[in-house]
Amino acid sequence: MMMKIFISLLVTILFMTTHSTFAATVPLNELIGQFNEKTHPNYINLDHTILPVNKPNMYLQKPVAEKLIEAYQAFKAEHPTLPFIIISATRNYAYQNGIWQRKWKTLYTKYKNSHKTADAILQYSSMPGTSRHHWGTDVDITSLESSYFLQDQQGKILYDWLIKNMPKYGFCQSFTQGRKVGYQPEEWHWSYQPIAKHYIAQYRYYMDKHPEQIINKLNFAGHNNLNLKKLINDYVFSINHQCY
Ligand SMILES: [Zn+2]
Repeated sequence: MMMKIFISLLVTILFMTTHSTFAATVPLNELIGQFNEKTHPNYINLDHTILPVNKPNMYLQKPVAEKLIEAYQAFKAEHPTLPFIIISATRNYAYQNGIWQRKWKTLYTKYKNSHKTADAILQYSSMPGTSRHHWGTDVDITSLESSYFLQDQQGKILYDWLIKNMPKYGFCQSFTQGRKVGYQPEEWHWSYQPIAKHYIAQYRYYMDKHPEQIINKLNFAGHNNLNLKKLINDYVFSINHQCY
């Protein structure tokens, strides 16, 4: 009898430990994109799936790719001739840093001011280390122009379908209309919430308890002259509440 109670207690404790640690163990380097998705065992190259892509060697976490394929197939069943193309998936820190450096160079020449330069880049591009594209959970679909989704005939059909159906597969639109700060609305950017919610929770944990652990690792152009805590607050956390 005692043995039975002991064993069930042990099982309960083990269950609780594995489950509570599961939600809080996104490694810091993966949270801020400082890893190589191409060699990560949980990631899959989209070239090895049926998903249409606009360039080779884009990666996603495997469960994300599986759900995205289901969504894609459902869309194609209804609209066989309309485009549903993955145009961006995982972008690691080094890649994002390349985008940031390029834009910084051009825009700093124009504004000659770090804050104005950062604000201009941040309309659509993340600071390296703060992008949801680091997580292997987020994708951009078909076009990076709002006008495509809001005005183009095919784009409107796609966007209506995404809004109505993507939640069935676990995806939310991260950057919706009506948020007071953060990125402009992005009709093309969809996030796999069952996994991404652990990343955003972990990011919140670091910024509340140990912000220096993240901030010390961000060494992109202008980082010394920017209020990174505030920018992270505005840009990482100001998302559609359905993505939390
Ligand atoms: Zn995106």
